[in-house]
Amino acid sequence: MSNYKMETTCIQGGWKPKKGEPRVLPIYQSTTFKYDTSEQMAKLFDLEAEGYFYTRLQNPTNDAVAQKICELEGGVAAMLTSSGQAANFYAVFNICESGDHIVSAATIYGGTSNLFTVTMKKLGIEVTLVNSDASEEELEQAFRPNTKAVFAETISNPSLVVLDIEKFANIAHKHGVPLIVDNTFATPINCRPFEFGADIVTHSTTKYMDGHAMSVGGAIVDSGNFDWMAHAEKFPGLTTPDDSYHGIIYAERFGKKAYITKATVQIMRDLGSIQSPQNAFLLNIGLETLHLRVPRHCENAQKIAEYLEANEHVAWVNYPGLKSSKYYDLAQKYMPNGSCGVIAFGLKGGKEFSIDFMDHLKLACIVTHVADARTCVLHPASHTHRQLTDEQLIEAGVQPDLIRFSVGIENVDDIIADIQQALDAVEK
Ligand SMILES: *Cc1c(COP(=O)(O)O)cnc(C)c1O
Repeated sequence: MSNYKMETTCIQGGWKPKKGEPRVLPIYQSTTFKYDTSEQMAKLFDLEAEGYFYTRLQNPTNDAVAQKICELEGGVAAMLTSSGQAANFYAVFNICESGDHIVSAATIYGGTSNLFTVTMKKLGIEVTLVNSDASEEELEQAFRPNTKAVFAETISNPSLVVLDIEKFANIAHKHGVPLIVDNTFATPINCRPFEFGADIVTHSTTKYMDGHAMSVGGAIVDSGNFDWMAHAEKFPGLTTPDDSYHGIIYAERFGKKAYITKATVQIMRDLGSIQSPQNAFLLNIGLETLHLRVPRHCENAQKIAEYLEANEHVAWVNYPGLKSSKYYDLAQKYMPNGSCGVIAFGLKGGKEFSIDFMDHLKLACIVTHVADARTCVLHPASHTHRQLTDEQLIEAGVQPDLIRFSVGIENVDDIIADIQQALDAVEK
């Protein structure tokens, strides 16, 4: 782990070329790696030696990029996955099995909500959704003897609820389970959840980390702080022998790296949602400018949120950087330099008016995406969350008229002019 500041880590983290090696991280476009003797290869299969043998388990390009993300988050080990969905699934499934239970904030990304309430339920893992604004006493009631993890997003997509990370970490630890935080929207530039007690961090690298809407990807980072052995009975997967590796015990053998090692050599081995080295290469280019892009996204979003708040056609605006936001104080505490570039708002005239407004935007495009360099917009109730009833929408923190406006890094005056012309056009 280096002592470099964030900006330097964005550029220099991960790939450390030795004499005569490429200055720029190469794409190891190879499924496999060569050995001289059968014995050498056998040791790799037994986890007795470290090395590459098959890209489904590990690849040098991917590892360098995972290492950079690990350094940015201040963790001890990290891995890439094919998508943010795979990251959140692996992060939970690595420590949960059929018959187990997790507690999750209700205000989470629609895809994660489906994953937890539909697909994981089929695997026998139950979830209790909680209001993240609830008191510790209220949150207590969600825990069961078989609860294995607590999950939440630093800033929720699309409702922009800012998580009280310390409150969630305290309650998780009180019940002997780790707190998993999806840090996609804040990014480590604005918030490092490990500093506030989170144990595992996940990312959809598809968003700000890639930043250019080029490649879908995910990452899991472990702080190394959760003591699996202290709660051995809850986490047999980490604390009892794995027969598929001649009975190794991850927590004993790999110490602080046990969680990521298990997720790699067992879950990734068996489920195989790897990020392609080509995508990892593109992600790395995105990461190099993360520290430049994120502050600009936030600066532009702040100005646009203030403009919207003062606009007579706007019914409500939710942006954690606004003093009027319910989450302003939490945002100041956990992300004093800025929250994210996403704003949620509704127009007077409701849902129909909001949809009409979106259709009139010219610079801001309607796309199923968020958090990239280009300004884009989406109406969750008609798009990402269209399977939910109005009641379920409200529970997920999504007002039916909510417009998710993802502010890009164009000149802010052009974005405001685009909003203005669309508002003028709808009025007629
Ligand atoms: C997009 C997103 C995901 C899912 O990531 P994919 O890369 O699309 O699979 C998970 N969490 C959050 C907060 C997201 O915004």
